[in-house]
Amino acid sequence: MARVLVVGGGLAGCSAALALADAGWQVTLVEKRTSLGGRAASFQAPGWAQPVDTSQHVLLRCCTHLVRHYQRLGVAEQITWHDRLPLIAGNGQRGLFRAWPWPAAPPLHLAPGLAALPGLTPRDRLCLALAFQRMLLVGRRYRELESITFQQWLGRTTSATLDRTFWRLLLTSVLNAGASQIAAAAGIMFFLEGLLRHRDGFQLGVPQGSLHDLHDTATRAALQASGVVLRLGTHARLPLAAGRLTEWDAAVCAVPWWQVARVVPELLPAPTVRGRSTGWPELQPASLVGVHLQFAEPVLREPLLGLLDHAVDWIFARDGGRHLSVVVSAAVDWAGLSPTAMATRALAAVRGVLGDLPPPLRTAACRETRATFIPAPGLTAHRPGPRTALPGVYLAGEWTATGWPSTMEGAVRSGHAAAAAILDRPIGPPDLPRQGLARIYLADP
Ligand SMILES: Cc1cc2nc3c(=O)[nH]c(=O)nc-3n(C[C@H](O)[C@H](O)[C@H](O)COP(=O)(O)OP(=O)(O)OC[C@H]3O[C@@H](n4cnc5c(N)ncnc54)[C@H](O)[C@@H]3O)c2cc1C
Repeated sequence: MARVLVVGGGLAGCSAALALADAGWQVTLVEKRTSLGGRAASFQAPGWAQPVDTSQHVLLRCCTHLVRHYQRLGVAEQITWHDRLPLIAGNGQRGLFRAWPWPAAPPLHLAPGLAALPGLTPRDRLCLALAFQRMLLVGRRYRELESITFQQWLGRTTSATLDRTFWRLLLTSVLNAGASQIAAAAGIMFFLEGLLRHRDGFQLGVPQGSLHDLHDTATRAALQASGVVLRLGTHARLPLAAGRLTEWDAAVCAVPWWQVARVVPELLPAPTVRGRSTGWPELQPASLVGVHLQFAEPVLREPLLGLLDHAVDWIFARDGGRHLSVVVSAAVDWAGLSPTAMATRALAAVRGVLGDLPPPLRTAACRETRATFIPAPGLTAHRPGPRTALPGVYLAGEWTATGWPSTMEGAVRSGHAAAAAILDRPIGPPDLPRQGLARIYLADP
């Protein structure tokens, strides 16, 4: 039986390991931490009975590889799907982002959601309509828009209010960077392929339990049931002699871009900074903040709330509304704050929306400085594919050339792509089918 070593127990490594084990390979997975999940994990915060997530992770219906991965793990039922997203603007006005349900509707399925966006002037709405119209006209040629930023591409079809509200909540929440930082191609890709391809693509999936339940407990069980040998708490370096693997038929390096040099130094260019390789210098990290506030009584009735023009972006209600999980994307101005200071700032923001809440029983906060990478102009050319110059050595990780932003979906796609390259056959489900006019604007040029 062919033997493969997978290094990295995040979603990329685990999805590759499962696909290869399912294809009959003998798989060993090495992870340096004592638990699986990588960046999509939970941690034990002081005073909390259960692990809390580093930050609330969510997915969209268009994340077909991630959904298939959850089905494979047997946890797909633990994702709650929301097709109505309550929003609240800085002026307190509320709205409900939702879609028309008919299959023939795209792109008009989002019309009721866009019309109900709170806190916008008629001019803002006109700008938004024009921006969406331009996206439809660009269609699949969006991939050519790599050298300018999304902000430059928007040009006059945006406004200061839209920048602070709609683009911030939808674009920055998903890509974890501002419109002036990301390539136009990356921004348009999200709207066209994610939201405007299929009437259900925008639906938001929220795990009911913790990331630990999904990405450690359930994943560990599925891997072990498939015969994958797990070596946790072990730092790996690929065994190579004269550029060839010595003990394995293949190996997948599924670690973040800044850690590849430790696992396969042979893959990287000469050391660049103070004798150390910087990995892929074109990939710039972006931070994300997650704050947890636990109260004695329920304080939020809605399951989630999107905040337009506030200091925090999303609030998710857990434990029947007693536990608020607060997310801040592209959290540059939260740098240097202690967990207590982050919790205080988040609580003040939440009180600004929900009114005078009682003091929380306990809080926890985490700022991940390298949560994601910024899909900056020109980056696509620097994201490597799964095949490398070293025979039998493959790369995975959300930062590789998946065509997707730095997300769990990107990670699973990369794991499937590495397994597909090894097995020499496609792995994973198709994208959601194109509905309505998406058959025209998403046709290949
Ligand atoms: C706070 C936060 C919030 C986020 N929110 C979302 C969200 O809502 N939705 C979404 O889709 N995405 C979100 N993301 C992004 C998502 O978590 C990541 O894109 C994804 O988990 C990356 O998976 P990966 O397997 O590619 O890499 P990682 O998860 O980084 O996994 C790599 C693994 O390799 C291991 N490793 C490294 N070096 C070695 C070595 N030498 N030997 C053995 N093991 C090694 C690491 O310990 C790690 O476990 C968020 C990320 C963060 C941090």
